[in-house]
Amino acid sequence: MSAGIVRVPLPVNDANLTYLPGSPERAALKARLAAMASERIDIPLIIGGREIRTGRLERAVMPHDHRHVLADWHKADVRHVEQAKAAAAAARREWTSRPLEDRAAVFLRAAELLATTWRATLNAATMLGQSKTVVQAEIDAASELIDFWRFNPSFARELYSEQPISTHTASNQMEYRPLEGLVYAVTPFNFTSIGGNLPTAPALMGNTVIWKPASSAVLSGYYIMRLLEAAGLPPGVINFVPGDSVQISDILLDSPELGGIHFTGSTPVFQGMWKKVGDNIGRYRSYPRLVGETGGKDFIIAHPSAAVEELAVAIARGSFEYQGQKCSAASRLYVPQSLWAEVRDRVVAMMREMKMGDVRDFRNFVGAVIDKKAFTKISGCLEDARRNARIVQGGAARDDRGYFIEPTLVETADPGYRLMREEIFGPVVVAYVYADAAWEETLRIVDETSPYALTGAVFSRDRAAIGQATSILRYAAGNFYINDKPTGAVVGQQPFGGARGSGTNDKAGSKMNLLRWVSARAIKETFSPPRDYRYGCMAEQ
Ligand code: NAD
Repeated sequence: MSAGIVRVPLPVNDANLTYLPGSPERAALKARLAAMASERIDIPLIIGGREIRTGRLERAVMPHDHRHVLADWHKADVRHVEQAKAAAAAARREWTSRPLEDRAAVFLRAAELLATTWRATLNAATMLGQSKTVVQAEIDAASELIDFWRFNPSFARELYSEQPISTHTASNQMEYRPLEGLVYAVTPFNFTSIGGNLPTAPALMGNTVIWKPASSAVLSGYYIMRLLEAAGLPPGVINFVPGDSVQISDILLDSPELGGIHFTGSTPVFQGMWKKVGDNIGRYRSYPRLVGETGGKDFIIAHPSAAVEELAVAIARGSFEYQGQKCSAASRLYVPQSLWAEVRDRVVAMMREMKMGDVRDFRNFVGAVIDKKAFTKISGCLEDARRNARIVQGGAARDDRGYFIEPTLVETADPGYRLMREEIFGPVVVAYVYADAAWEETLRIVDETSPYALTGAVFSRDRAAIGQATSILRYAAGNFYINDKPTGAVVGQQPFGGARGSGTNDKAGSKMNLLRWVSARAIKETFSPPRDYRYGCMAEQ
């Protein structure tokens, strides 16, 4: 126990490195990429700090060169999930009793390692395994994860500092206990930083965790585990259990000791987990906390007063960076008739310039989509667009070497068209052109078209129009942007998450999220307890 109230450092956002030709970071990253691409590593489960090799193997490949195997990873089965439960329970006794500053020190050290000696490794794994360009890997696997690990300790301390009023006769205290049970973290393929944040945010608050990474992001997940170990994470606090998601979830969601689920991924999967928890609700020791950030159908709406050049760049970056596989990627556009021709031509010109290919070639702006399943689904959407709308630019798809889908702009005359409503999760954006006079009506269409409410953007130079959009679209997005693209939220600056079909909106990388991983106990200590059960007013005279 520390005999003092320890401060955690005031967090500052990590500055993205530029990787300009000739820079030391570029040389280090290129070297790490070459080394990682030339090896084929073996990835075990890590349970209670022990490496476990099950012999049931899956391969991690490069999406942009899918015959190139980067790693073989071992899949968990029922026994390993039981072992992970036991390891999490065993580690809990010691970990929950550590003061916050001890736990925070592990993640602050992890941030420092990632900012320095581990930066190239996590960036390279994210580029090769998830097909991110250097810019996209840097803002995700390096900067955002560093930020999560630096900001969360500070948010946790703020939370701990929120204490009730005490009086002369009694002292009151709020104890932020970890949940009474284990946390199950289920992470998506598309952000290495989310892979790192979902298990560590509950762990920082004193919980122990079973982490199931996405099958298509096991390589970067494994390096995160190794980095956390290097930072001093005690065995069993986070247990790394890749494998069959349904099998693993079935066991954990049937367990009385399930304290919470920290999920990011698609809406149907989260809803399925919620249903299962509902069916099992009588079984658990406590009501499990369900935190899920899920799908999106993110929009950009332009007012006739919008600055066209800025709008066009926001569409190009917001829709096509990381092949549109950001939950926040723009995938529906609403552009007034008076601006459309110029906006379209500018976007098309940029699209024609965008190079697509192996992310090790830093000139490429677009890599491959994550796997065969995604490729097939997005190709189906392109087919739909060919039949039911108009492809303005792009539309090609090839998977002979990598899973490549060309950035695609579609135009539709029907604002209710399927691809204006459903998440595509690929480099495809659909535009609806509205009559300039129908601005307000179009805002209502934006609000009502899709079940999601994750991100959205308005472009305008007219203050009144910005006010109208902000008001009519109040519930249409959890992250709302004015004259900016709807992607690129920064920890501590734009806490991230959406409502409606997009999730529980617990804002990753904020105090609101950390609050979900504690169960507070209010403690009152009275200094002079009463000695008589009767009240003064009970006297006769
Ligand atoms: P996904 O739903 O396919 O997978 C997410 C995780 O759930 C993976 O670990 C997967 O193995 C697991 N999973 C899959 N089926 C499961 C089941 N039946 N039971 C339990 N777990 C299961 O999503 P993905 O393809 O990895 O990621 C893309 C999705 O994630 C998109 O819908 C995107 O919008 C969403 N996303 C949302 C946010 C956000 O902050 N709102 C951020 C990133 C991604």
